[in-house]
Amino acid sequence: MLRRALRVVLTIVMFSTVALAGTVATAGTAHADGCYTWNRTLNQGASGEDVRQLQIRVSGYPGYGAVLALDGEYGPATAAAVRRFQQAYGLGADGIAGQQTFNKIYDLQDNDCTPIHFTYAELNRCNTTWAGGNVSAAQARANALVNMWKLEALRHALGDRAITTSSGFRSVSCNNAAGGSATSRHLYGDAIDLTGTPSFCQLAQQARNHGFREILGPGYPDHNDHVHLANRSSQFWSAPSCGI
Ligand SMILES: [Zn+2]
Repeated sequence: MLRRALRVVLTIVMFSTVALAGTVATAGTAHADGCYTWNRTLNQGASGEDVRQLQIRVSGYPGYGAVLALDGEYGPATAAAVRRFQQAYGLGADGIAGQQTFNKIYDLQDNDCTPIHFTYAELNRCNTTWAGGNVSAAQARANALVNMWKLEALRHALGDRAITTSSGFRSVSCNNAAGGSATSRHLYGDAIDLTGTPSFCQLAQQARNHGFREILGPGYPDHNDHVHLANRSSQFWSAPSCGI
């Protein structure tokens, strides 16, 4: 009886050891990600392209009214954004980007580096080249990518409800055809129009927390049928019907 019990215990211990060894091996193996793989833990004081890549992914977590600089320098603002990202996904919120944080980012991104719920195609219904705007095609596309990560944060904050985009990048000719202003941020690839649900006011109000300096919505001229989110040098929010 005792021998059998001992054997059972030993078996459990052996299985546990195997399981544990498996876990350790997995954690130690570099995650093969189709978009970008981080190879070191990032903390305050770090700098480099891997920091900038992280900043793009957490750009939707700058705090109310703020915008995170994508400068490749891991300062207090980046640490705070990482902490908010970690809190949003139920991770240990220490402001240090380690394996758990990177694994969550890997879960959230497609092989082309867009977040899983948004695509380059929906952020450019104008042409396939991203050319013809007020910045280079590469810059317009890069701006759209950052905006998609901000949208992913907005979507998650609104309870993972689907968000419908209706416009993103516009060339000069597409912008003229849409009746957009000559200074429209759509010409830079960093403006997005949203329709559908959640409500326009919910979108406009929540967007204030996710890195958008330009928010136009209900009550602002020509913005009763969509919410416009973009970036610019100084803050301009106006959605009077929503109390903004
Ligand atoms: Zn717009």
